[in-house]
Amino acid sequence: MKKISTRALSVFLIAALVFTGMCVFIREEYLHGRKWAMYFSMFNPEADGQLLDRNGIMLAAFNKDARVYAKDWPTRVSNYHVTGDYAGMTGTGVLNRFWGSASDYDFIYGIHNERSGSLSLGIDAELNNYAYSLLSQYGKGTVMIMNYKTGEVICLVSSPSVDPAYPDEEPEDGAYVNRALTATYTPGSTFKLITSAAAIENVPDLENMTFRCTGELDIAGISITCMEAHGTQTFEQALANSCNCAFAYLTYMEVGQRLMVKYVTDYGFLSPHSIDGIFTSAGNYPTEFVGDPELAWSGIGQSTDQVCPFSMLRYVAAIANGGTLAEPTFVKGGSNGKSTLLVNPATASRLQELMRNNVVSHYAQEIPSFQDLPFCAKTGTAETGAGTSHSWFTGFLQDDAHPYAFVAVIEEGGFGLWAAGIMVNDIFQHMLQKAGTT
Ligand SMILES: [Zn+2]
Repeated sequence: MKKISTRALSVFLIAALVFTGMCVFIREEYLHGRKWAMYFSMFNPEADGQLLDRNGIMLAAFNKDARVYAKDWPTRVSNYHVTGDYAGMTGTGVLNRFWGSASDYDFIYGIHNERSGSLSLGIDAELNNYAYSLLSQYGKGTVMIMNYKTGEVICLVSSPSVDPAYPDEEPEDGAYVNRALTATYTPGSTFKLITSAAAIENVPDLENMTFRCTGELDIAGISITCMEAHGTQTFEQALANSCNCAFAYLTYMEVGQRLMVKYVTDYGFLSPHSIDGIFTSAGNYPTEFVGDPELAWSGIGQSTDQVCPFSMLRYVAAIANGGTLAEPTFVKGGSNGKSTLLVNPATASRLQELMRNNVVSHYAQEIPSFQDLPFCAKTGTAETGAGTSHSWFTGFLQDDAHPYAFVAVIEEGGFGLWAAGIMVNDIFQHMLQKAGTT
């Protein structure tokens, strides 16, 4: 009798376990079924849809008979890091993320194709072609441009790239990496925009201070140097001169490590971000005690500083938009007002003036065509430790009709202004010339 009741109990327990398992499965299926189904719909032979650029140019199209990419080679290659491919070789492609938009899913029937799918991106494929043709001449790097009022990304290129229709058996090293979203670089002097924000908000007499630069600043036996002696400068002049001595002094004497860490963290430089569910790389900044000389180096974008270009773009886009970041998206039309207050509005306003002054008093003096457009910007020449420098240029157009923020990095490109700066200027001149003629 005892044996029978033990068996009955076992049967009951097994039944209870099966029942609980089914409940968990149904709940999970209900909560995550769409995601699972859409993920595996990469292999669904019935899926039907297309990915278009902002002007209706086909970037990728698929139905039960074929999976194709843009017809011409430049469009396939320059847009590759945006579209991705059917094989999922790059984790950052829109094709992987939005395949689900092409077919439909519900809990009862799973995937079906009652609506035909077509997704329009904010990307301008022709602009991407132009940007990639310039960038690839320099070598490796990236350019990303977004509308800072709507969040719409209009340009993203990463070099080297891949032709997804005919992928190389031995692609160039790093060709599948989306350098705008999933690479990090030493930021060099573009980082002074962050140190500037911390100084504006925490150094009471900043605008009345003067900074004397003899070309070299000694901190506990470690020498911080400038390319030349900048003499006596205001804060505004020190940023335009990109004076290492002035910003090193501000960082270790006036702002301090605790506040630097707070600003780098609050502005999102240490976190990964998501653009339409595609994750980006986190950066780095020394958060443990490092002492004055290293702290000084970190405030001028060297030390162990690492910045993802996308994080820099978020920051300058927020500055351009009065402190509020319109959430970046690849979808045409933008992020429907989704936004985050990233930078104090008064600070953003002062940074706008400072970045405009950089261009007027310095960059346009060297390269006159910078005067043609209302650029606000900052250069970066980031020493890599290998005797070369990454060339950075980041900022925005102060223009309601063309509200674009940008970031560009050319690996081992040399001086910020003379590689990335010239390239960005050329891309915008091309874009606005084209806009003017259509
Ligand atoms: Zn200096």
